[in-house]
Amino acid sequence: MLAVWVDQLLGFASGALSAIRQQEHYPDFMTWVRDKGAQAFNGDVATAQALAPILWSQTPLERLDFASEPLATPGRNEPCWCDSGRKYKQCCYRVNFPTDIPEQMMWMLSLREWKGATLKAALDSQQAPPQALLEAGLIAAESGQTGRSMQILESLFDGSDWSRLPEQAEPAFEILLDIYQERGFTRKRADLLDDVMERWPAVFARRGA
Ligand SMILES: [Zn+2]
Repeated sequence: MLAVWVDQLLGFASGALSAIRQQEHYPDFMTWVRDKGAQAFNGDVATAQALAPILWSQTPLERLDFASEPLATPGRNEPCWCDSGRKYKQCCYRVNFPTDIPEQMMWMLSLREWKGATLKAALDSQQAPPQALLEAGLIAAESGQTGRSMQILESLFDGSDWSRLPEQAEPAFEILLDIYQERGFTRKRADLLDDVMERWPAVFARRGA
């Protein structure tokens, strides 16, 4: 059951991302959700409608320099945020999902799809949640996309505030060092090591360096 839900959720989220990218306009997106998006849930419009505002709220928008446009959760007696015309308590409030919705799913999917100038602009915007950069960088490395992985992980470590680095950033640091090694970027590798020694002593203590 759960595996089916996760597949449906991912399928819906991928479709939703493409639909949002068309215009980055909420009403147009909701039209897609009702007309086409619900197919991901075998025509269950209620589930699609209830998910859509949550996914929209976490999607980085190119027209906002990759910030998102989060919607406020309606009060129970207010009009539902899915634009169904019903009250929230009679609409999406009643829909339960089998799992929590991962907070960074739309960033993760975006980091997987963006290419070239758009990927660069998105990373330069510094809007990406560090956890999304970490996971997307690791996934890209695992699937052999070393260029993409390097670009994403560099962005993770370029941020000036290393206290924002996720706890599990250490494997990402290892992978980035390996990529530099593999590609012969000795200078970049040395600079990263210097940076880490200076700014992240705890990791070096554990590495025994
Ligand atoms: Zn609703």
